[in-house]
Amino acid sequence: MASDTTPAETQTFAPSPEFTAQANAGAELYDQAEAEGVDFWARQARELLTWNKDFTEVLDWSNPPFAKWFQDGTLNACYNAVDRHVEAGNGDRVAIHFEGEPGDSRSYTYAQLKDEVSKAANAMEGLGVVKGDRVALYLPMIAEAVIAMLACARIGAIHSVVFGGFSADALRSRVEDGQAKLVVTADGSYRRGKPSMLKPAVDEALSEGASSVEHVLVVRRNEAEVEMTEGRDVWWHDAVGSASTEHTPAEQGAEDPLFVLYTSGTTGKPKGIMHTTGGYLTQGAFTHKYVFDLKPETDVYWCTADVGWVTGHSYVAYAPLVNGSTQVIYEGTPDSPHRGRFWEIVQKYGVTIMYTSPTAIRTMMKWGEEIPGEYDLSSLRVLGTVGEAINPEAWTWFHRVIGGGRCPIVDTWWQTETGAIMISQLPGVTVAKPGSAQVPMPGIKVDVVDDNGQPVPNGTSGFLVLREPWPSMLRTIWGDDDRYVDTYWSRFGDMYFAGDGAKRDEDGDVWILGRVDDVMNVSGHRLSTPEIESALFSHPSVAEAAVVGATDETTGQAVIAFVILSDQADAEGRDKAELAEEMRAHVGKEISPIAKPKKVLIVPELPKTRSGKIMRRLLKDVAEDREVGDVSTLADQTVMQQIVDSLAR
Ligand code: ATP
Ligand code: MG
Repeated sequence: MASDTTPAETQTFAPSPEFTAQANAGAELYDQAEAEGVDFWARQARELLTWNKDFTEVLDWSNPPFAKWFQDGTLNACYNAVDRHVEAGNGDRVAIHFEGEPGDSRSYTYAQLKDEVSKAANAMEGLGVVKGDRVALYLPMIAEAVIAMLACARIGAIHSVVFGGFSADALRSRVEDGQAKLVVTADGSYRRGKPSMLKPAVDEALSEGASSVEHVLVVRRNEAEVEMTEGRDVWWHDAVGSASTEHTPAEQGAEDPLFVLYTSGTTGKPKGIMHTTGGYLTQGAFTHKYVFDLKPETDVYWCTADVGWVTGHSYVAYAPLVNGSTQVIYEGTPDSPHRGRFWEIVQKYGVTIMYTSPTAIRTMMKWGEEIPGEYDLSSLRVLGTVGEAINPEAWTWFHRVIGGGRCPIVDTWWQTETGAIMISQLPGVTVAKPGSAQVPMPGIKVDVVDDNGQPVPNGTSGFLVLREPWPSMLRTIWGDDDRYVDTYWSRFGDMYFAGDGAKRDEDGDVWILGRVDDVMNVSGHRLSTPEIESALFSHPSVAEAAVVGATDETTGQAVIAFVILSDQADAEGRDKAELAEEMRAHVGKEISPIAKPKKVLIVPELPKTRSGKIMRRLLKDVAEDREVGDVSTLADQTVMQQIVDSLAR
């Protein structure tokens, strides 16, 4: 695979000497990792975590691709995230500032969090949950979501979080796949000021099949009326409210499963990714400390991800707490009750580190910079993004408007499968290039290879692979070892195939080119989606863009672009055909005439998963005039209809 176009010349951003002087990371981290090999990870595991029993073996790779890290060590994830901070005298530090969508808020100190997780663990045990059982969590982004995850970890039960925006069917299939014994849910939540319900979907999911479920534990959140099934359903405030605050965390093996989480399903049927305990926590804590330059005594960290996807696992529920951080959790949408909500939260809590997605940033750009301009964002010092490549336009906006030109930005590449950040800048160390995730984390062996698995020279592109096992790697796909081997380890034998295309630039830095499945082939030229999308974003009238390759009789594939107009362009009300023509020409000029979309379709919305990723396969269905495929993992199930309707007009 090769991409035949070259990105526009890049502007670089060097860290300030002041930032570098105080940074956790230094260039020596890379050298240490290189010199120490797997012992580097052993050292991190011992420095960053508290073990009940130390391990004697770092990595067992005798049966690849099934890795075992720190195998004979024992520890408890919840103890590491909560109890030990109280024991160390930091019980009064705030662990979680919860901000509800309607504006209610509650802060939990580490001591209070210890009481809450202990009570929840006792309540779950009271409902028959024991070590190794699966517990499905179908919750809004409220503190109880994190508390329930940690309570499972405390017992040694395996949580499977199902995004609260998913349908009853999606919930049922995940409950059945994991044979969950308990479901933890809420009556509902708030969404754009209105109550949005969860419990009815659980009732529907359990009305047929899903017979493994014995109890449903229900958090009262929006106080809407819900049906409670006698003998099966229990209120959280009753069961947890009355439970004891004394609970001894279970001693877990490093390789005991911590959770199962289904991937976004951007490319196909979601996979139940299984993570274990010791390695997962080690790499999570390590990356969180260095990528975000975390200073637990003074920072206020905010990751805007929902617990329903992996970022909300690694960088909300686990790593920040393992590192003793103070963090913000926000229940709602960025525009409720107004479009300044995110910035109001930054100002209110004095957020210093903010981790969000390119799609959120583009939405804010679309709303205009006057909105963040009304808030005091001077507390911010590190910014991060994840989920897809960040186009340089959005990067520079984030840097200038939100970061005031002073905050390093980390563009973090990783996957549900990798469990933790794998490629990213280190703030204070890396000279940043907008649009590129750039460098593998210390201790991580990333490569870009051709069809035969040979490394590509700088300046060319290929497949992104990982050459060595890493501590937080997935251990398997739940219940399906064969699919694990097939999906990730059959393409290049002993290398992990990430499914993404990537390019190495002249300095050897990595640019993610999107999913291999999304790469287009036009008249024998290979084109990557992010490059063309970036070119579209740089047109002043474009707020969002997605491109796909549609089958074409003459060129093999043709580039079809879907574009959302900026609010301003929308208000101007210019002729759409004329605008589309202008955008086509713009891409031709920015990249090359080959990359010029055959069609630019102006649409009201784009289909996105819960984590904000564009589901290009659905757009491809539209472009190729087919019935639209499975939309069950879309955040908004009506979007495809809106798009089809808008094009019919
Ligand atoms: P599925 O595997 O079910 O199709 P998914 O790949 O969208 O779903 P995730 O694990 O949530 O599920 O997403 C990981 C993918 O997101 C990566 O493989 C990559 O394509 C993309 N991604 C994540 N972070 C970045 C980034 N910083 N730059 C570019 N792409 C990114
Ligand atoms: Mg994937």
